[in-house]
Amino acid sequence: MPVSLLVDLRDLQLFPPALGYTIAGIFGAIIGSFLNVVIHRVPNEESIVFPNSRCPSCGAAIAFYDNIPIMSYVMLGGKCRGCKKHISARYPLVELLTALLFVAVAWHDGLSVALPFDLVFCAALLALVFIDAEHMILPNVITYPGMIFAVVARLAIPYLTGTPHFDDLPSLAHGTLAASPVWVVSVVGAFLGALIGGGSLWLMGWIWEKLRGVEAMGLGDVKMMFMVGAYLGWRLTILTIFVGVLSGSIIGVGLMARQGKKDMQMLLPFGVFLGIGSIAALLFGSYVVEWYAGQFR
Ligand SMILES: [Zn+2]
Repeated sequence: MPVSLLVDLRDLQLFPPALGYTIAGIFGAIIGSFLNVVIHRVPNEESIVFPNSRCPSCGAAIAFYDNIPIMSYVMLGGKCRGCKKHISARYPLVELLTALLFVAVAWHDGLSVALPFDLVFCAALLALVFIDAEHMILPNVITYPGMIFAVVARLAIPYLTGTPHFDDLPSLAHGTLAASPVWVVSVVGAFLGALIGGGSLWLMGWIWEKLRGVEAMGLGDVKMMFMVGAYLGWRLTILTIFVGVLSGSIIGVGLMARQGKKDMQMLLPFGVFLGIGSIAALLFGSYVVEWYAGQFR
């Protein structure tokens, strides 16, 4: 039975929107600080819980008052308090990006059941984007739980709210599915989206391998798109792949032109472009798909 009480907490007007967005931004900066730990440690297979944060240069433990997101970096002038070595600008950048992203997701969702799920989804993608950019890997310890998380969200959100919520559900409610409970349609949509997301990436890699005899894409991209496809549904997944391939090709061709290479042998961290595409699709994709579909009506 759907719990209709949870449908729209926005109606309760718990606090004015400006305060809500400020809280979302501060919370995002704190989560961004945690994502920095994930981005730094997960590729090295280190624990993300212990020990506390340390300076990458001298190894000195970073005190809590030097670990305030964004502000500490600015106040310390981007240098370690102990050894005065330069600290990567990636740290405040990730914190700022996460803060802005959380504000955008809060704007998109309002104070709804979907909000915490969308925040987790975006945070995971942001970590994947930065890890792929630096190491050219998309770790299983993020993508595997991500797939399970996506299916849980696809089940929980429609079940708790009684609403379709996900972008692909109206397009799936035909035939036998039209008579099914909305959470059943949602889970079916998750598997269809995963199949289209992971399947098309796998197919692209397979074709490239047959044509060129080199492995173009790691299975990390395929696993990432299983997760993204399950969460976003087939419509937004196709949009994500379109945005990813288009932006990746433009940047790739640009980089090749700059380096004077004629061959497409250069490896691009494709997960970066797919990750950015996924977040864009979550925030704006439904409008884009509706506009596109409207052109044919
Ligand atoms: Zn230091």
